[in-house]
Amino acid sequence: MIPLSQAQWQTETWQEQLSGAFRRVEDLLTELALPTAEAPYELDFSPGFALRVPQAFVSLMQKGDWYDPLLLQVLPLAQENIASPGYSNDPLEESHANPVPGIIHKYHGRVLLVASPACAVNCRYCFRRHFPYGDNQLSRSQWQQALDYVRERADISEVILSGGDPLVSSDDRIEELVLTISEIPTVERLRIHTRFPVVLPDRISDKLVASLTSTRLQTVFVLHCNHPNEVGAALSERLQLLRQAGVTLLNQSVLLHGINDDAKTLCKLSEKLFNAGVLPYYLHVLDRVQGAAHFALSDTGAQALHKQMMEALPGYLVPKLVREDPRVAHKCPL
Ligand SMILES: *Cc1c(COP(=O)(O)O)cnc(C)c1O
Ligand code: SF4
Repeated sequence: MIPLSQAQWQTETWQEQLSGAFRRVEDLLTELALPTAEAPYELDFSPGFALRVPQAFVSLMQKGDWYDPLLLQVLPLAQENIASPGYSNDPLEESHANPVPGIIHKYHGRVLLVASPACAVNCRYCFRRHFPYGDNQLSRSQWQQALDYVRERADISEVILSGGDPLVSSDDRIEELVLTISEIPTVERLRIHTRFPVVLPDRISDKLVASLTSTRLQTVFVLHCNHPNEVGAALSERLQLLRQAGVTLLNQSVLLHGINDDAKTLCKLSEKLFNAGVLPYYLHVLDRVQGAAHFALSDTGAQALHKQMMEALPGYLVPKLVREDPRVAHKCPL
């Protein structure tokens, strides 16, 4: 693929931008003026979990910087292939909480609906990097079955669209899904967990905003943003549309060694998010997925950072520091 100049991709639709995403390590590095021969670490040019990163996200990276915190989240490294003890392919044991295809039901009152098997970006630390998405790519009748599962359980008051990334689905599909969910009388809230707008802000299309705001459901939009450099002007502008329409905006981050594991970066992230109308919700410690061990921090390191945040910020800008335990029915505070 020949990467487009910045001016070109900026006039494309979000679908065009998505299909024009970088998929080859060589192309990405060329765009960033990083000669592969000078790499300070060993790269993986044909990774099992593919490279995928849209131009809009690349435009937020610093050219010539091998240690750019956005680049390191997406660049495949050879060390991902080293097996690490204590790390697994399904660290959250989600395959056990998968009662029907497309549904993950572990917590009281809310279910995850795997609305799309793909993402707009492939994050190297992803705990779902080995998830059998193929089996969760739903046919029409499976969709029916997943929605029946929700319909038959009156105690489910919240449906969480997750993935993959739910915003990979088309605007029409999301509109239809929101409508169908809103017809289940016991469901009160719709939540969307997404990293898509962080890597491609134009995904917050006018049509998406309309779907999320012209429903009786209360809508909560949880962004996945890890570093203050990810909160650019384009993202802030598009988020305003959701905010003005009354959507609750939250953020969750993953604590990543070499990316955001210092208090100054984390505090700046909280402040930039708040400036964009987003409240910090969770700060997750890394799930122990094979291939991501080099991003891990010790628990004591994580706790120390969290304490520094509490000392520096108002309480509402300090996310909850949590881990996911497959045996516990809620996120566990550290
Ligand atoms: C994280 C998660 C949720 C949502 O948990 P909240 O604490 O409500 O944000 C729901 N279901 C599953 C399976 C989850 O992993
Ligand atoms: S966007 Fe989320 S689910 Fe998709 S690869 Fe990144 S971390 Fe994983």
